[in-house]
Amino acid sequence: MRKPVIAANWKMYKTTNEAKNFVKQFKPLVEKNTEVEIVLCVPYTSLESLSEELKNEQIGLGAQNMYPINQGAFTGEISAEMLLNLGIKYVIIGHSERRQIFNETDEFIKQKLEKALVVGLTPILCIGETLEERESGATLTKCKTQIESAIQGVPKENLPKIIIAYEPIWAIGTGKTASPEDAEETIKGIRSIIAEIFDIEAAQKVRIQYGGSVNPENIKDLMSKDNIDGALVGGASLEATSFAQIVNYK
Ligand code: PGA
Repeated sequence: MRKPVIAANWKMYKTTNEAKNFVKQFKPLVEKNTEVEIVLCVPYTSLESLSEELKNEQIGLGAQNMYPINQGAFTGEISAEMLLNLGIKYVIIGHSERRQIFNETDEFIKQKLEKALVVGLTPILCIGETLEERESGATLTKCKTQIESAIQGVPKENLPKIIIAYEPIWAIGTGKTASPEDAEETIKGIRSIIAEIFDIEAAQKVRIQYGGSVNPENIKDLMSKDNIDGALVGGASLEATSFAQIVNYK
């Protein structure tokens, strides 16, 4: 069975001190022997301090982006190797904010995904449709384009290492969550797309999260769905108490 994975995406919030305070508060709130894989995706500036704080903890640490080349004249960028060297295990790739604000293309996102897999980072690949696309019935077509472009050509044995976050753009930071039924329906569709590219067995091994206004009130219903394997949480992950309620949803 697929292990549930719930990840915080702090975006551009929290100084290092604030991040350390969060962790101090959060650690004792997490249920002992939790079956949930918990990940904090934090700004680059806090990665090193938090990797110290989280040593020997069951809480994983992730970055929110990376550059797909080892080293070179790429002012302002951070490579996958640099993250790995800090003990980082996860990296968000292709978040809709990166696609929209920073014009990241499917091709560039594919390069990042492949690089993350090569170095051994677990990529959290974000996909999802705009409101316009949803309203015109193009949700799965959009997801299909994004998924195909990213995972086609990935060696099949690497597939279970990828986490996909289905995040409808209209639900991000808006307080409007997809209903658990709608999220389940789309995520099931995404699994079928993966099965078409590879096969059913391979598709069954990929963990697919839902993201978009997840909070302590809606997490349980979302997690009760067969195909929803976790969540990527923005706003509600910034407070230790609310993120703890989310990871302790059971
Ligand atoms: P949200 O953000 O939970 O604040 O909607 C989710 C995300 O952008 O990953």
